[in-house]
Amino acid sequence: MTFENLGLVEPIQKALKAEGYVTPTPIQAQAIPHLLEGRDLLGCAQTGTGKTAAFAIPILQNIYTARTEQRGIKALILTPTRELAIQIDESFAAYGKYTRISHTVIFGGVSQNAQTNALRRGVDVLIATPGRLLDLMNQGFVRLDSIQFFVLDEADRMLDMGFVHDVKKVIAKIPAKRQTLFFSATMPPEIVKLSDSLLTNPVKVEV
Ligand code: AMP
Repeated sequence: MTFENLGLVEPIQKALKAEGYVTPTPIQAQAIPHLLEGRDLLGCAQTGTGKTAAFAIPILQNIYTARTEQRGIKALILTPTRELAIQIDESFAAYGKYTRISHTVIFGGVSQNAQTNALRRGVDVLIATPGRLLDLMNQGFVRLDSIQFFVLDEADRMLDMGFVHDVKKVIAKIPAKRQTLFFSATMPPEIVKLSDSLLTNPVKVEV
């Protein structure tokens, strides 16, 4: 299996080549075909397995092939830490660099001005940590009513870091009709319960 077998559009294939990617990692090989078909996903995977590309590539492909001129955020990636948020944003930049799909990242602990300026210009993909996202939502800088793709990354760490209430408040503002991708390194009962409440007939991938 190579990336050329996955039916990806030319600008994404070109970007993956530029990154030096030839063979999908196991989570990518197992997840990408189902995600391209619109299935929900429950991924039991740690960082380092290639999970970022496993969700970023199909999201980019789906937005690209929809060819919509519609404004508004189409994909939301929620992740627990600033470091992860920045890494995910860099991945969207790398895999999407020939697509003109726009993306930005917001996280706490820094001034919000640069972040709100980027949001004002409009983005297709938003990568966020929960606290800053809620804060900017409450101030009216972010609307989630056009979200079609929602990724909850490192759900177990979200819980450990006490973000579960913030996460639930965010989820309450996302349209129910969407594709949801749920990633967690571990699956304690609380995480299983949360994933059950968010996913519809998900593909399950464990790596
Ligand atoms: P992640 O688990 O998403 O943090 O990815 C771990 C690392 O693997 C990152 O540095 C990626 O750039 C790299 N990577 C992801 N997928 C592939 C691939 N198919 N081939 C080569 N490197 C990859």
